[in-house]
Amino acid sequence: MAPRAPTEVVTRKSRAEIERMRRAGRIVAEVLALVEGELKPGVTTGHLDRIAEAHIRKAGAIPSFKGYPGINPRRPFPGSLCISIDDEIVHGIPGERAIRDGQVVSIDAGAIVEGWHGDAARTFYVGQPPAEVRQLIDTTRAAMMAGIAAAVPGNHIEDISAAVEDAAKPHGFGVIRQFVGHGIGTSMHEEPQVPNYRTGRRGRKLEPGLCLAIEPMFTLGDYRAHVLADDWTVSTVDGSLAAHFEDSIAITEGGPEILTAV
Ligand code: MG
Repeated sequence: MAPRAPTEVVTRKSRAEIERMRRAGRIVAEVLALVEGELKPGVTTGHLDRIAEAHIRKAGAIPSFKGYPGINPRRPFPGSLCISIDDEIVHGIPGERAIRDGQVVSIDAGAIVEGWHGDAARTFYVGQPPAEVRQLIDTTRAAMMAGIAAAVPGNHIEDISAAVEDAAKPHGFGVIRQFVGHGIGTSMHEEPQVPNYRTGRRGRKLEPGLCLAIEPMFTLGDYRAHVLADDWTVSTVDGSLAAHFEDSIAITEGGPEILTAV
């Protein structure tokens, strides 16, 4: 998930705390792999959500998205996954909608283990993607990896933002600005924000123990996004296709470590 605004102060995590976050992250990675295996035409997004929730709970974790407060206090997020299709960028609500061949499907998952969070997302194509769509998906993933590679002690938040933005630039992809990456720990969304574009401000210096969710969101068209009438789903304003990748990482003396890995 991607915040509009962070909610907590910055905290640097100890090695023991990072290992707890890695347990949450592993469950999130397992969920994404499980859902990828189930992703085929005819399957409903609600079915994917139910198998994700079952896996998270069986692992002794809590689905962090379920009940998460949004812009409408009467409508907390109802699912354990965000499933965003085609021109939907993030925060799509699972339900009775069936997946169809030729769709771009972004899946975002979150879990809590002993109070520590993991948050990650992947974008899949159902069937054989057109070259342009393949490039959108591959570039968004590569942008996330470039952002992670820039997450080394001594760098600043702006170095991550620049690495992500630079991955999109040669292709002319839209870079979503309204939603950003974030710190993560005992809350899903902590300081600092991690924009996917240069802000012109260096931002916080990166230090060992800082844990971040790095999550580029790119489109084949306009960078502008809006929230649909369900108060959650974020969609491109021009109907262009969107992709989203996210991993939670820990910055260590030796460099970035991905926590949301199997
Ligand atoms: Mg997130």
